[in-house]
Amino acid sequence: LMGQMMQMPLLISSLITHAARHAADTEIVSKRNEGDLHRYTWKDAELRSRKLAQALARLGCEAGDRVGTLAWNGYRHLEIYYGSSGSELVCHTINPRLFPEQIVWIANDAADKVLFFDLSFLPLVEKIAAQLPTVRHFVLMTDRAHMPAASVIPDLLCFDELVEAEDGHYQWPEFDENTASSICYTSGTTGHPKGAVYSHRSTLLHAFGSALPDAMDCSAKDVILPVVPMFHVNAWGLPYSGALVGAKLVFPGPHLDGKSLYELFEGEQVSFSAGVPTVWLGLLTYMKANGLKFSSFKRTVIGGSACPPAMMKTLQEDFGVEVIHAWGMTEMSPLGTLAKLKAKHLKLSAAEQTQLLQKQGKVIYGVDMTVIDDDGKELPWDAQSSGNLVVRGPWVIERYFQRDESPLVEIPGKRGWFPTGDVATIDADGFMQITDRSKDVIKSGGEWISSIDLENIAMAHPAVHEAAAIAARHPKWDERPLLVVVKKPDAQVTSEELLAFFEGRIAKWQIPDDVVFVTEIPHTATGKIQKLKLREQFKDHRLA
Ligand code: ADP
Repeated sequence: LMGQMMQMPLLISSLITHAARHAADTEIVSKRNEGDLHRYTWKDAELRSRKLAQALARLGCEAGDRVGTLAWNGYRHLEIYYGSSGSELVCHTINPRLFPEQIVWIANDAADKVLFFDLSFLPLVEKIAAQLPTVRHFVLMTDRAHMPAASVIPDLLCFDELVEAEDGHYQWPEFDENTASSICYTSGTTGHPKGAVYSHRSTLLHAFGSALPDAMDCSAKDVILPVVPMFHVNAWGLPYSGALVGAKLVFPGPHLDGKSLYELFEGEQVSFSAGVPTVWLGLLTYMKANGLKFSSFKRTVIGGSACPPAMMKTLQEDFGVEVIHAWGMTEMSPLGTLAKLKAKHLKLSAAEQTQLLQKQGKVIYGVDMTVIDDDGKELPWDAQSSGNLVVRGPWVIERYFQRDESPLVEIPGKRGWFPTGDVATIDADGFMQITDRSKDVIKSGGEWISSIDLENIAMAHPAVHEAAAIAARHPKWDERPLLVVVKKPDAQVTSEELLAFFEGRIAKWQIPDDVVFVTEIPHTATGKIQKLKLREQFKDHRLA
């Protein structure tokens, strides 16, 4: 017997039509690149998203085409999210903090047909436009008054003009919920960045799951300010879950310094936020220096890197903000686990509760996880056995964009699991704690630095025989790259000379903090550099 319920595909457009009907007058407030504060409602956002869908069709976009963005968090970016995905196009958010060559590579791999970008990225796009053969239209996300008088970009379009030229007589189309909705690239693995292609279905299920009380606990009473960028795994899904619950959204644009953030938190009475640990440093320093307190901010999700216990304590004890430690990854849309107590934990002492809350937490329904050893055997959930963390679920990727090989691993008797590259323990209550990472990348301030890129550059220096880039602990950035180098016999080179060699070859913030010269780098039997051993050896290396 088949169920007899309506077959309605889970489509992203249904989120914004829901918000426009049921949270019609709920506000979306954005600090713009132009410098002012823009405010309108979910109803306005839905209409402009439909007009944008019309404009994209007029520009010749067809189902499945990729639409790239280089943009901060703001209402126009939100309109691109809904206008593109809602009309069966694929929203491709690109991380503007990457080196221009990486941006070019990613936009070409995705074959973006349109590129939308904020005013602050005009100089960048002017530099790379000629290297983007698939892009037919460049659209500056501003109004006519802020368009440049002249630009080397041919036929540069104005976002507001495009939208305002349409009449809005457009119905969101209905199509298969498994259709691609958006792409995010992750450089968190080896080689070139890889695209994770989300579907409408995966995005909606993730929005449902992430809004649950034991996850982000989002509701129509919330005022949500995503500090996590919309180019970083869709701001952890908040533009979608915000619409699902009909919350007020507040977007900070490029203004992420302590003072700007504080004024926005207070001015808009923000109740909930999310971001990587480093984004809070500037805000808390500014507040401490000026003796300020929050009047509405109640809780925040911190993830992307391990949240330092000291930061958790400061936010909670000095500023009254509950910190929800979370773990996830681009390949998981991104939310996997959040640290929230169970009823039985309420009896524990404050110290015991804190210990649990510092872990990465329990899975949301929809994600299944376990730890395995190197032979694929499942390890006990005893809080001791540390192994490779693997996950599966409807919002976990099955493969990468345009890559044939499957990244999945098998556990005897169970379907494919995605290996996260994280090493973790799980306790009997399902609390996961990351203990290490088997992947070689370095995560600085929540952003990836490819160790391979660093090694390739170092190896191009005539005095370098062998180089390994590893993550060293850093009090502010969590991790910073440290270069371990074996010099060629008789070659002379100083740390300063080697670091200067990186300039212009990679983004400035990705240049290693220091170099240590050694006589030998340890290798495995198969000749691979033993990064774990190196990390162990240099884990206390002091960085300036
Ligand atoms: P995001 O930064 O949004 O979580 P990425 O795909 O860029 O997504 O990075 C995912 C990786 O970041 C994880 O595999 C893990 O190595 C690391 N990570 C994410 N959250 C945490 C956390 N809370 N604690 C420790 N590491 C984390």
